[in-house]
Amino acid sequence: TAQLMQRIYKSVDNKDSKFLVGCVPVKPPVPTTTNSEQTNNFSKKVTEETLNQSTPTSDLHEYGCAARIIRLERPVGGKGGRFFAVVEGIARIHIDQYVSGGPYLEAEVTVYPEPVMPNDDQELQDLAISLKSTGRELFIILQDLKLPVQMLTQLQRFIDGASAGSLADLLVSTVEPPYEEKLRILDAHDLKTRMTNAIDIVTRQIHILKISQKIHSTVEGKLDKKHKEFYLRQQLNAIKEELGERDDSSTEGDDIADLTRRLQAAGLTPEADKAAQRELKRLKRMHPTQAEYQIVRTYLEWLSEIPWSKGTSDTMDIDNARSQLEEDHYGLETVKKRILEFLAVLKLKDDMKGPILCLLGPPGVGKTSLGKSIASALGRKFHRISLGGVRDEAEIRGHRRTYLGAMPGLIAQGLRRVGVNNPVFLLDEIDKVGHLSLHGDPSAALLEVLDPEQNNTFNDHYLNVPLDLSKVLFIATANQIDPISPPLLDRMELIRISGYTFEEKVHIAKRHLLPKQITYHGLKPGYVKISDEALLKIATGYTCEAGVRNFEREIAGVCRAKAVEYAYANDNGKKDTYRPEVTINDIMTILGMEKFCNDIAERTTDPGVVTGLAWTATGSGGILFIEATQMPGKGNLQLTGKLGEVIKESAQISISWVRAHSFQLGITTASTESTFFSQRDVHIHFPSGAVAKDGPSAGVALITALVSLFTHRCVPPTTAMTGEITLRGQVLPVGGIKEKIIAAHRAGIDKVILPSRNRKDVDGDVPVNVKEKIKIVYVDNVYDVLQEAFDGEKIWVEPSSIVGVESRL
Ligand code: ADP
Repeated sequence: TAQLMQRIYKSVDNKDSKFLVGCVPVKPPVPTTTNSEQTNNFSKKVTEETLNQSTPTSDLHEYGCAARIIRLERPVGGKGGRFFAVVEGIARIHIDQYVSGGPYLEAEVTVYPEPVMPNDDQELQDLAISLKSTGRELFIILQDLKLPVQMLTQLQRFIDGASAGSLADLLVSTVEPPYEEKLRILDAHDLKTRMTNAIDIVTRQIHILKISQKIHSTVEGKLDKKHKEFYLRQQLNAIKEELGERDDSSTEGDDIADLTRRLQAAGLTPEADKAAQRELKRLKRMHPTQAEYQIVRTYLEWLSEIPWSKGTSDTMDIDNARSQLEEDHYGLETVKKRILEFLAVLKLKDDMKGPILCLLGPPGVGKTSLGKSIASALGRKFHRISLGGVRDEAEIRGHRRTYLGAMPGLIAQGLRRVGVNNPVFLLDEIDKVGHLSLHGDPSAALLEVLDPEQNNTFNDHYLNVPLDLSKVLFIATANQIDPISPPLLDRMELIRISGYTFEEKVHIAKRHLLPKQITYHGLKPGYVKISDEALLKIATGYTCEAGVRNFEREIAGVCRAKAVEYAYANDNGKKDTYRPEVTINDIMTILGMEKFCNDIAERTTDPGVVTGLAWTATGSGGILFIEATQMPGKGNLQLTGKLGEVIKESAQISISWVRAHSFQLGITTASTESTFFSQRDVHIHFPSGAVAKDGPSAGVALITALVSLFTHRCVPPTTAMTGEITLRGQVLPVGGIKEKIIAAHRAGIDKVILPSRNRKDVDGDVPVNVKEKIKIVYVDNVYDVLQEAFDGEKIWVEPSSIVGVESRL
């Protein structure tokens, strides 16, 4: 062997050496199967086996190849004298017989040199042409598969110039057919057989390649669309970078880095941090063109913008707060006092666990601006959350992220807007929030927001991590109590603000509204001076409201007109002619005709018409007229004016009471007479037919109207009344007394009839100057009402003098 090795070494070094070895393949396993997988496994096994032991000659194939050793290679990690020899085939050989089994096999062989193509054999010529075109076809496919260039050029070279036999050999070795096929080609020393077999094998392989290429391209086509954009973007970025135009914020990596930085700076709570890390990890794995990417990104942005740990420090000084409230608002003494108490307790306790303040009153009385004053007195940020029309629980609590276009709720949005965790949140119009419905229960969600025991872990569905609302100061506003859900009402402490009298409005205008409007219109203080009488004229003639919002609007109208006047005078160099004073006459020219005629005394009086006092849906009071008329008919009662169930029932009670007492009241001439009512129809109408009305408080006015109708007596239009009645004629107390009296005062009423059990409401709340101008009388039953309504006249006969009529109450 040593001798052999030496010859081998020599031959490797010397290119011209004639030293050749015979290479013979191992026979395939005997019961040959056509399963190519098995054969391939076999060939692998053969190499491993032959490494370890010598194969008996009977297992060797009879054809082989004479080869020159080009290179010796030590296998990776190989030990001892074991080598791989890289050989180059020279010619086919046939093993005729083995002559020595010694250290290495020696045999007698027949050599089959490469045959030359005979010029006169047309069949062989045709086969050669066919082989070449098969070769070209293979070349084209392999080119598409992007095989190494070296391999392709070699193939090209062979197709163009090599002999038909070599080309057949190369093509077969290129397509890697199963082991047996390879042997078949090795055996084919005859040119015709070899070419036929080669064309057969290669064509089959080309077919397989084509099919796999087709599958590949359809899959690729599907992927393409998604990835194309990504690749284009990457290229665009590369180009931009090259041009030095790269926009740092637009690239994905920087985007995530930026988000990470912002999240770190946001001081997240442990829970929020966990969620943020989880989502960041997901984001990094995602493709920016995926729809989900934006969703996760937006979520993380929200997390980074919620003020988890940022807050302002309170500058609470009770004295300061007092002067702030005084400065911003005229009057409202009890309200301001209560707010100061609230703030003082807040300062001492240093937590928000008290009840929630709820400012209750009609529009435009300063509820929102009181909230603002509280915030600025505390040095806190202010945010108004408008709850009017919130029907869906998700508006407060947010949508779950599984919904398309999901958003956090109003509370989380508010926190992001103010950027601190201890703002003042004004929950505006809490009475307008929807209750339990198809879309959840917004008021239940609010309950959680306002509950100090729960609101340190408020769960917004979108953010899905607990939010701490315990540092937020909530203040609510409402127009009415009734629509507020009882549990919510239970959390809140009500502070009533019940509208202003004309005098108060004039004061508010002088001190607040006018100076504010003057600066709004670009004028300097003192450029518009409206006299008190003129202000009163604006309030009485152009507005009809409990608050001051329209009043402010009309004042703004005056300021606009004055601004034009001033600008004109200024432009034309006639500054001296400008007059800041505004008189009653000017008001008429600027604002036009009076919009409201409040002089109730000018109304004509008719039997059957009575002035009632109402409390409207916005919480302001007002007067309303009740008209009753009778006509020949069949005893029907007709009611019009968009009335609710309760007010209709009051009308029925009234007519029953009047019928029951008709003889006593002098309507019928005999106590047994029944035809009077069965021969006539009664129609009752509440004017302003488009405004919905309901409630029991029109009862006394209804009875009075009917009695007035049937007895042909008039009630003075300046006498107004309110109160619920029972079938037995008792008068029960009603709500909104202060608002109603102030509204009556505004309307020019001089006498008000009230249930005596409402006396406490008048004593405490109603401004003194109103009480001085209006005569308030208290009644217990319908007889008292009638006596007061008809100017003290007793229009009924005392029951004791009537035989057979039930006694008076
Ligand atoms: P609300 O929230 O009750 O509907 P706003 O707070 O919006 O009413 O008040 C409307 C306007 O009236 C605001 O400009 C406010 O400053 C002003 N205003 C209301 N009441 C007073 C008052 N007592 N003193 C000064 N300004 C007032």
